[in-house]
Amino acid sequence: MRARPAVLLWLQRDLRLHDHPAWHEALRLAGPDGVVVPVFVWPDDDEEGGWPLGAAARVWLHHALVALDADLRARGSRLVVRAGPTLPTLQGLASALGGARVVFHGRPEGFARRREAALLAAAGRDARRIDDADIARPRDLRTGSGGPYRVFTPMYRTFLAQTVVEPPLPAPSSLPAVPDAIADEPVQALGLLPRIPWDEPMMRGWTPGEQGARAALTAFVAGPGPGYDTLRDRPGEAGTSRLSPALAFGELSAREAYVCAAAAGDALAPWQRQLVWRVFGRNLLAIDERLPDQPLQPRFGAFPWRDDAAALRAWQRGRTGYPIVDAGMRELWARGWMHNRVRMIVGSFLVKDLLLPWQAGERWFWDTLVDADLGNNAMGWQWVAGCGADAAPYFRVFHPTTQSRRYDADGAYLRRWLPELALLPDRWIHEPAAAPPLVLLEAGVRLGRDYPMPIVDHAAARDAALAAFRALPPA
Ligand code: FAD
Repeated sequence: MRARPAVLLWLQRDLRLHDHPAWHEALRLAGPDGVVVPVFVWPDDDEEGGWPLGAAARVWLHHALVALDADLRARGSRLVVRAGPTLPTLQGLASALGGARVVFHGRPEGFARRREAALLAAAGRDARRIDDADIARPRDLRTGSGGPYRVFTPMYRTFLAQTVVEPPLPAPSSLPAVPDAIADEPVQALGLLPRIPWDEPMMRGWTPGEQGARAALTAFVAGPGPGYDTLRDRPGEAGTSRLSPALAFGELSAREAYVCAAAAGDALAPWQRQLVWRVFGRNLLAIDERLPDQPLQPRFGAFPWRDDAAALRAWQRGRTGYPIVDAGMRELWARGWMHNRVRMIVGSFLVKDLLLPWQAGERWFWDTLVDADLGNNAMGWQWVAGCGADAAPYFRVFHPTTQSRRYDADGAYLRRWLPELALLPDRWIHEPAAAPPLVLLEAGVRLGRDYPMPIVDHAAARDAALAAFRALPPA
């Protein structure tokens, strides 16, 4: 009897069924009588280029895998999970299936591409890397001279002028069963959840998995989406989609999000533009894999960053005495997510008020964000620090109190995350250290006890930052 054709579908950051080109390719290769085995391999830490997935993202990944397994079972398949090392594990599964072909979507990180290249080299024609369903392929976004873009706006112009975003693919309606010979191991066996269950409160309010992502997309497009341009900078309002973890783990394809927004009309164009920023961040990483570790402007290598563990800890714990910074850092700790405007404010504070290296902030975000994405996190930090290719100039220093008054005028965001300040009037909640003693007394705030005094003086810190910047070698 002839063996049934078998295909191993290696899933990485594409944990979904809709708009999944590799699923379609795997089913095509397997043919009507063949089997497709969807597998997720949890890589060994040392395979991850110094960036093994952080604690919060591991929790998200656990739930995303459980949800995917349930969706696969509803269609007659199941998810095979294994711990690494990745290549021998994939090769072992392929041989157990009698010499299966391997199909997968490529990732942008240098370490991931090397791993994929090693698989392709070992398997030859039996392995196939195909493009995931992103909005645009990096190779299609080229400058006039054929090079990659390092600045967003011209790339975006090219994107708008040239890119035809393909319609998303449907999810396969039924799937071949995974052979019994392939052992069924539970997602729990990967050990992605922490032993002490700090993750339960963090995950309240989130619904990982493809179905949750699709429901969130629909709710966003029908709800705040059309008002995104006015709401997006107000952290006190639910004005953004919160789809970043689902996009990071591929529970939703960026292409489907983009096309769905386009169908709702021009009002969502500013939101679609943010999806293109995401492509840009991933492309930057693909162009230069040093992005997470090295400043793109080499002169920042000489910046006199401070080494101050106490200041770093105060920032991480939301105890700087600057309410907007502290609210953001506490939101991050509690929810594994932070509003984009506040990411910029806390980042600027770390780098320019505390003069701590941007990489320290990047590492903390990496460990605490459920949406941690190597390219976009690094791009965000290099932007904030002024050392990226397309960055906010270093000399433009955010004033945390002014930012707070501008974007959270009624203090709704501050009151949510800093309950100890909730009774302060709007005028003083952004700057409790400047409030008259009677106001503090009436609000029950004892500075230095209930809430910290500012750990730095912003004006003096700004001068010090600018002096350090001016002393750098010329660009
Ligand atoms: P929405 O406003 O609804 O935007 C829709 C989607 O567009 C997002 O989900 C995201 O995929 C993409 N997007 C939006 N803004 C940006 C942006 N500025 N850059 C790139 N993509 C964007 N985003 C991550 O996905 N992972 C990260 O690790 C990450 N780290 C960051 C670190 C810093 C210092 C900064 C300043 C930004 C970072 N961002 C990161 C970008 C941005 O803050 C988040 O994508 C956004 O806050 C997610 O919320 P949302 O899904 O509600 O976004």
